[in-house]
Amino acid sequence: MTASNFHVVVIGAGSTGAAVAHDLALRGFRVTVLERGEVGSGTTGRNHCLLHSGARYAVNDPTSARECIEENFILRRIMPDALELNDGYMIAVDEADLAFMPTFLDACAEVGIPAEEVPLSEAFAREPSLSPTIKAAVRVPDGVFEPFRFCLSFLATAQANGAVVRTHCQVTEIVKRGNAVCGVKVYYRRDGREEMIGADMVVNATGPWCGKVAHLAGCNVPVVPTAGVMVSVPARLNRMVLHRMHLPGDGDILVPQRLTTLLGTSSWRVEDPDAIDIPREHVERMYELTAQMVPAVRHYKPRGVWAAARPLIGSARAADGRALSRTFECFDHAREGAEGFVTITGGKTATARAMAEKTVDLVCRKLGVQAECRTREVMLRSYRAFYAR
Ligand SMILES: Cc1cc2nc3c(=O)[nH]c(=O)nc-3n(C[C@H](O)[C@H](O)[C@H](O)COP(=O)(O)OP(=O)(O)OC[C@H]3O[C@@H](n4cnc5c(N)ncnc54)[C@H](O)[C@@H]3O)c2cc1C
Repeated sequence: MTASNFHVVVIGAGSTGAAVAHDLALRGFRVTVLERGEVGSGTTGRNHCLLHSGARYAVNDPTSARECIEENFILRRIMPDALELNDGYMIAVDEADLAFMPTFLDACAEVGIPAEEVPLSEAFAREPSLSPTIKAAVRVPDGVFEPFRFCLSFLATAQANGAVVRTHCQVTEIVKRGNAVCGVKVYYRRDGREEMIGADMVVNATGPWCGKVAHLAGCNVPVVPTAGVMVSVPARLNRMVLHRMHLPGDGDILVPQRLTTLLGTSSWRVEDPDAIDIPREHVERMYELTAQMVPAVRHYKPRGVWAAARPLIGSARAADGRALSRTFECFDHAREGAEGFVTITGGKTATARAMAEKTVDLVCRKLGVQAECRTREVMLRSYRAFYAR
């Protein structure tokens, strides 16, 4: 069978769904993407925008760190239009961070992340806003992505290969014939219409909502929606990404995004990704903690404050999610009586392409299609092409 014999519905147009749609369309499948809001309107459009080098996870989550560095180098090649390649500094703020540096450098070497200590004079020359009391700086190949451009680059390329993208279109039912999924029922939020869309396979790429969507088919996904607060200040205080050199914690990253700086983040478990209350003290902590690296943050009132939920994989007993890996997993729901239904979740925006590769490899195996993944090499269209259809 060839891929063009099959229609695959992808639910969700965040970074994961967008990358899955691209990979499917490139391998020749007929693809329809269904998104209940706008492209990137879930967690992807509200995250820290950090094109991870993986350095942040090198010590405590090497699997995710390896995924990040590998994808970082691929994305640099395939989507230059959506990225700012400004690198990052890991900053030792105090003696404890300095004592952590050898462990950190060894872990980066182990997972293949280029990491090099730079003289403090060089760090201050590049980043004059750094606190004069910092103890050390290590350069790593971080970057910054623009999340909407990130998704649109994948979707523009998917569209060029025949995919259809429907926004404001919410999946309300996974339709089954016996034990096999045969389509979805959708509700068009703009005009209240309902429709049944047939499918040979359905991919659930709904991030922190994937548990809810899986339930529509009577299935379970061990996803733990874990929220984080972000604060943006109306000044670009640093050119590079700045992280604190310690095990991942609260308020330890400053990301320059256009003419703003994004301060983040925190971590706590939430029941419903649509109802996240922002604790006031989290906003205060973002200022207090990031000011240890860049004291000037205190001079700016927030331009924006928001929260989003990470779709982390793990036990519902996890209290705040810091202990959960940032790796990803693809779930085949056939054993739960939903043949033709798969969920892809976990991961990061920075690892969306790899998540898509794993998912589409599974789709191909299940449908008996032989088609190699080519997304490592194929240059994506500009995000602008998405609107030029
Ligand atoms: C605070 C915070 C900071 C982060 N920072 C970074 C970072 O700097 N770098 C990084 O790489 N990653 C970061 N992440 C992780 C990253 O944001 C997520 O892993 C990623 O965005 C998940 O993408 P997704 O497409 O799986 O989910 P989402 O982006 O949430 O997309 C899921 C989509 O499904 C749609 N949907 C839900 N239900 C339905 C339905 N019934 N019908 C149709 N559509 C539906 C939603 O509207 C949504 O658009 C961060 C996460 C958080 C919370």
